Amino acid sequence: MQPFDPERYSRQVRFAPLGAAGQARLAAARVAVVGCGALGSVVALTLVRAGVGFLRLIDRDLPEASNLPRQMLFDEADVTAGLPKTVAARQHLERINSAATIEAVVADLTAANCGELLAGVDLIVDGTDNFEARFLVNEFACRQGVPWVHGGAIGAEGRVLAVLPGRTACLRCLIPDPPAAGSLPTCDTAGILGPTALVVGAVESAEAIKLLVGGNDRVGNRLFVCDLWEGIWRTIDLEPLSRQGCPTCRKRDFPWLEGRIAGRAAAICGREAVQVSPSAAGSVDLEVLASRLGAVAAVTGNAWLVRAEVEPGIQLSVFADGRAIVAGTREESRARAIVARYVG
Ligand SMILES: [Zn+2]
Repeated sequence: MQPFDPERYSRQVRFAPLGAAGQARLAAARVAVVGCGALGSVVALTLVRAGVGFLRLIDRDLPEASNLPRQMLFDEADVTAGLPKTVAARQHLERINSAATIEAVVADLTAANCGELLAGVDLIVDGTDNFEARFLVNEFACRQGVPWVHGGAIGAEGRVLAVLPGRTACLRCLIPDPPAAGSLPTCDTAGILGPTALVVGAVESAEAIKLLVGGNDRVGNRLFVCDLWEGIWRTIDLEPLSRQGCPTCRKRDFPWLEGRIAGRAAAICGREAVQVSPSAAGSVDLEVLASRLGAVAAVTGNAWLVRAEVEPGIQLSVFADGRAIVAGTREESRARAIVARYVG
């Protein structure tokens, strides 16, 4: 049995479905949270406070002021400090629970790296803002037989789906044809009400805790949906859907994982920003880049990235893995031109 502080977790242990055995399982559990924005913040905070022993946070971005209304892990000092979200998150989470091991991964989850980044965990939780990452996680989870919890929040509407591969409906059972970029409302077009993210993140965490302590029969084969503005709370039975021969969880077709569907949506949801992926894999020498950019603008940076306002209103952040985020525009072509001009 994994040791845990009995006094600290006494109220959880007293909750009969969890008990001491469940708490010990949480202490031994390894969880990956993909995306460290609004949902990922709530999930990470809740699971670390609940006593989950290991958390791997994966996110590609930096905190900014427009995140603060709903991204509970960050504060104004994080925005000023310019650390990647996962690094800032780890600092906060370690202060909350020093017994937890927190891994901060600064990366964009892709077909090429998801095998490595999602390896060795018991459960994956969705904190992302885009369907590409979700389909990737869904396929990885179905292929490897790892349970995962999907969550989405937009406006005042939320939804949560816990996926037990082979037993319940997966994301593709629900959405057979992945939506084309731009075809769905996003938090950019529809906005988001902060409490919606808290509700969805909390329901995701509850499903995660059930799965981690072996309460699989309590997860069910269903979709949770809510609309906080209209006061709607309901679950939809997915049993019929999961019997329809899904290409992914039944027939083992993995188009995202195998790179047959790509078409990366470069604009970052919730930000006036575009991510530009490097044309070739490989790391960037941040010191060399910082001194080069220093010739045109004031440069700030840390171990993970270099940042400069290279043109009025345009802030360029280049990460060690070669990715760049161009803030101040939503035009992909302009962002690519800026990266070509200043990074090469
Ligand atoms: Zn399926």
